[in-house]
Amino acid sequence: MKALNWFHAISGPLLGRDLRVRRHTLLVLTSLPTYLASLGMIWYLVHLNEVSHDVARGLTLASMLSFFGFILVVRSGLTQAWSDPVLTLPHAMVSLFLCGAAYVLLGEHRVNVLVLMAQTIVVAMLRLRPRQVLGLGVAAALMLVAAFSLVNWLDTGGGVLSRGAPHLVVGCASLLLLSLVAKWVSDIRIEISLQAKDLRKAVLTVRQMATLDQLTGLLNRRVMLDTLESERQLAERHGTQWCVALIDLDHFKQVNDRHGHPTGDAVLKGFAELARAHLRAVDQVGRWGGEEFLVMFPKTQLNEAHASLERLRKALNAWRLPDHPMLQMSFSAGLVQAEPDETLDHMVERADKTMYQAKASGRNRSVWAPLFSPGADGLGIMPPALPS
Ligand code: GH3
Ligand code: MG
Ligand code: MG
Repeated sequence: MKALNWFHAISGPLLGRDLRVRRHTLLVLTSLPTYLASLGMIWYLVHLNEVSHDVARGLTLASMLSFFGFILVVRSGLTQAWSDPVLTLPHAMVSLFLCGAAYVLLGEHRVNVLVLMAQTIVVAMLRLRPRQVLGLGVAAALMLVAAFSLVNWLDTGGGVLSRGAPHLVVGCASLLLLSLVAKWVSDIRIEISLQAKDLRKAVLTVRQMATLDQLTGLLNRRVMLDTLESERQLAERHGTQWCVALIDLDHFKQVNDRHGHPTGDAVLKGFAELARAHLRAVDQVGRWGGEEFLVMFPKTQLNEAHASLERLRKALNAWRLPDHPMLQMSFSAGLVQAEPDETLDHMVERADKTMYQAKASGRNRSVWAPLFSPGADGLGIMPPALPS
């Protein structure tokens, strides 16, 4: 636990608070072991008197400037909006340049630099696009040719190519081959990430199809039933009141018959949008079937739910389809408040019956079922009738 606190105390200022900046700075930090190992090797050669102090100092300074330079730029957050916020390509190019310099300066030990060049390509392949990886391989081979030519020119005082030629050919061929393999790996990496993206999309679609009604985007009947059951249990535990309304669009068949099925669909979609806009965010609306919708009002009394339904009904009366300005819609709704220990089926059945009362009494109205509260004599007390 203490170690974790220490880690947070150090990593906060070092990596930054922003999660993306932290992740990207951490990625640049992963190159530190390579820098340290390379410099360690150079200083060991100094210890063996194989490399001069000046050369080691120069390479150390250049390497540290490069490393801390990239850390600072990425840590500053400046690169966050860029396509390569970790600066992989510029960092790899600078590393290759440092490798070229080391190749020229390390004398007989220069062959080790080839390993570092290969390492640069392998690390970069994990973040670069396939073409960039290939380009990096070509750049590495060119850097090797340039460094080799310089060494050769310095060694021979401007003379022609010498005994190191096979080493150059093998080095360049290896770097190019490695970059081809790295490109292939990078191709596969991109392919896999695209497939993962498709898979995530498909899972989202399946989840939506399983929970939402395809036409209206409202909850489907199965999910609505689960939602109702959760609310019933919650209300029972906390003793809260809640209501359910069954809404049925009036004369909807005529819309289909007169204007066509697509217009009927557009009306259903339009009603769903109205319901989303005019009901509270906590109220849940589901498509119960055909042109019937069920609304759940959690922690709500009859009169409050009734007021909400009336707002929605008036909004539907005023709503028009742009292509059919003469088409006016209405609904009939049956509203019930949950009775103590009432089952869901019973509640929905009461809402259904109440909705048919609304139809029978002339449509375009919301009717609530009277509350049944046992009085002293055990008989139900009906509240006064409501204006519809
Ligand atoms: P009432 O006022 O008594 O409710 O009459 P109504 O015409 O609304 O009711 P009815 O039950 O006679 O007709 C409902 C129609 O809804 C019949 C059916 O074809 C249509 N319907 C059901 N689902 C859809 C749908 O997804 N799209 C369309 N366009 N029509 C649908
Ligand atoms: Mg119906
Ligand atoms: Mg209807």
